[in-house]
Amino acid sequence: MREYKKEDDLDLVKLAYEFAEKAHGDQKRKSGEPYIIHPLSAAITLAKMKLDPSIIIAALLHDVPEDTGVSIDVIKKEFGKDVALMVEGVTKLGKIKYRGVERYIENLRKMFVAMANDLRVIIIKFADRLHNLKTLDVLPRDKQERIAREVLEIYAPIASRLGMDQIKGAMEDEAFKHFMSKEYKWATGLVEKQLSQREKTARRVQKILEQDLKENDIEVKKIYGRAKRIYSLYLKLLRNDREIARIYDLVAIRVILKDVASCYSVLGIIHKRWAPVSGRIKDYIAVPKPNGYQSIHTTVFVDDGELVEFQIRTEEMDENAEFGVAAHWHYKEKGKAAAARNMKWVGELTKWKKEIEENQKYLENLKLDTLQSRIFVFTPAGDVIDLPEGATPVDFAYHVHTDIGDKCGGATVDDQIVNLDTKLKNGNVVEIIIDKNRKGPNPDWLKFVKTGLARTRIKAASRSQRNSFFGRIVPF
Ligand code: MN
Repeated sequence: MREYKKEDDLDLVKLAYEFAEKAHGDQKRKSGEPYIIHPLSAAITLAKMKLDPSIIIAALLHDVPEDTGVSIDVIKKEFGKDVALMVEGVTKLGKIKYRGVERYIENLRKMFVAMANDLRVIIIKFADRLHNLKTLDVLPRDKQERIAREVLEIYAPIASRLGMDQIKGAMEDEAFKHFMSKEYKWATGLVEKQLSQREKTARRVQKILEQDLKENDIEVKKIYGRAKRIYSLYLKLLRNDREIARIYDLVAIRVILKDVASCYSVLGIIHKRWAPVSGRIKDYIAVPKPNGYQSIHTTVFVDDGELVEFQIRTEEMDENAEFGVAAHWHYKEKGKAAAARNMKWVGELTKWKKEIEENQKYLENLKLDTLQSRIFVFTPAGDVIDLPEGATPVDFAYHVHTDIGDKCGGATVDDQIVNLDTKLKNGNVVEIIIDKNRKGPNPDWLKFVKTGLARTRIKAASRSQRNSFFGRIVPF
């Protein structure tokens, strides 16, 4: 962190480390290591992304409230509200109970979407999960598979949408190893046979290019070969009849330059030296990928039919490509531009949220409010219910089931009995007390319910009650 932060900013980070170490005491990980290794490793992952000290601090403290006697209030007092909010968010993401894979995945997905207004929580959760993946071997087989599957189905796609390629790739590779071990072995076996030859070629080509760039007075920030990640290689193999010969970017050469103009100059220099493969020049600088990725890619014939891919971009594009949304907290782009970019990502997640909801006719009676004005609460069984801000136990009841709404006699929130017009808060565990004798909803509930669904049901039930009442007296 010293590379990107002033020394006095680091004092609090040190304090947080000592605080977490003391709180976890002599707790051990399943691997037998001292517990503190886990939050420390998550914090280091985030420091590599040059993230703000407050995020690093929250990462150090992320398991304290759940696993030690120290409460969130103490964290709030010692490290401030902002850090406490992040720690609380990470704790909540860990609270979803596992009851069948489909349901769990769905709950987790909803929860992540609800968290999208504080992307920092999601990023800490990635770092947390990455370390858990690295120590997966100590868990029983079924749990290993479950965690790995979750990563491939939830964590990695979200990281990808946030443009966080590096952590996405790292999580996927670990998960791949544990969830699809046969395929993993097959793919790594294929790579081993090819890699050394391709690396040799890449090194030779890189030297020639470096010479060319020098002669053209191009200032190079970084130039290096990168091997393709194993999981993304595996997916590409599946799309290419499992033929490794058809994967041109097994090794690619990355050229990082000082500005966009140099990127196009270098593209020209490369094409002057080697003939490009037609159809494989991709200008993501002019037309960025939907997640914001920018770079120029080109594949060229070097010799004897051998192919090499180049990826050309500026330093800022490089950091964006690796860290995505996380890069924006520290890179040049400050203030409005960064905020606008973050909003774009939040917008992506919002769109995704809409897709999920449309697919499942979820919340069919509701026009979606903005993401920020949604809360999520739990059923006692650990399911997540997504509601608009200001929703009450009655709204909750109707979202669980019509009968539960109709027979709602009272409610508890976090084990406390509450009035039915109580406004629910993020993370509450809500239980509805069923009144079996109840004939139907109380029309007075209309004064405080927040969701269209509850309102519609209450009105409909009241109408049918009235009808049946008149029905009885009509025979007179
Ligand atoms: Mn953890």
